[in-house]
Amino acid sequence: MTTPSRPLKLIYIVGAGRSGSTVLDTVLGNHPDVVSVGELSNLHRSGWTNDEFCACGRPATTCEFWNAVRQHWSRLSADADVAEYLRLRDRLERFRGGSWLRTEAARLYRSADARRFLEQTGSLLEAIAAASGRRVIVDSSKTPLRVAWLARLPGVDLRLIHLVRDSRAVAWSRKKSLAKNVEAGVQHALAARPAWYSVLYWTVSNLLAARQRRRAGRRGVLVRYEDFVSDPVSELARIGAACDLDCNDLAVALAEGEPFAVGHTVAGNRLRMAGQIRLRADWEWVEQLPAADRRTCWNLSGWLLRQYDYPRQARAA
Ligand SMILES: [Zn+2]
Repeated sequence: MTTPSRPLKLIYIVGAGRSGSTVLDTVLGNHPDVVSVGELSNLHRSGWTNDEFCACGRPATTCEFWNAVRQHWSRLSADADVAEYLRLRDRLERFRGGSWLRTEAARLYRSADARRFLEQTGSLLEAIAAASGRRVIVDSSKTPLRVAWLARLPGVDLRLIHLVRDSRAVAWSRKKSLAKNVEAGVQHALAARPAWYSVLYWTVSNLLAARQRRRAGRRGVLVRYEDFVSDPVSELARIGAACDLDCNDLAVALAEGEPFAVGHTVAGNRLRMAGQIRLRADWEWVEQLPAADRRTCWNLSGWLLRQYDYPRQARAA
């Protein structure tokens, strides 16, 4: 493996799903130094195993960008193999019974599996940098367990954006089922989830994300989705400070309501398949979430919502 000329910076969006990360990821991906790759943790399954659609409109195995990444990856990590990488990722990174405790166990970090996973993940990031010609990568996988691994990658300058959205908005988003429509970016039918389930998932994800953000110190930042859509200029300034990235031009474009092009992303929200997105506040839950669900959300997560300065009686901004 050749030594890269400049250090590689990885901006990782961590938090619960349905928090608006596709929008943030796309905006940052329009910075001239940045390549945004969506939920990188799912690339090997969604893209290279299931051949799902990339946001460029092609199945992943015929997308020029991902083919170039795969070639670079094979060159940098001679024995890299998609099936083996998936096995390692599923063992080390997925949120399943006991996985958090396993990830916290020091001996796991010294295991042969961990070394292989780190080596191949580092090579993958270098491959993305080589294929894109950019050395700042945005990964919006969100899963907090992934942070522990990314932080151990040698030569990678990790920055964290902990993106949080009101749990009632997340519960409303997950109450709506989506039928499978591969070309529209819905890879599997998404079942509607009850509010209590979504709120428990939101709570655990944000507690773990906050822990990682605190560890990151000034290289991490907490961003509320609601603040980002209502005052993107201020929030981009905070993000830019934590990531050492000049986001002024992005802020100007956002303030002028310009559309933002979506990069080559193979996993993530269906919004990405439109090719471009505009920043738009989504306050649907305030009108639509049934009162019983609203009570459930507040009873289970009000204590944490308060910590993030969400009021009990929310109104659209
Ligand atoms: Zn593509």
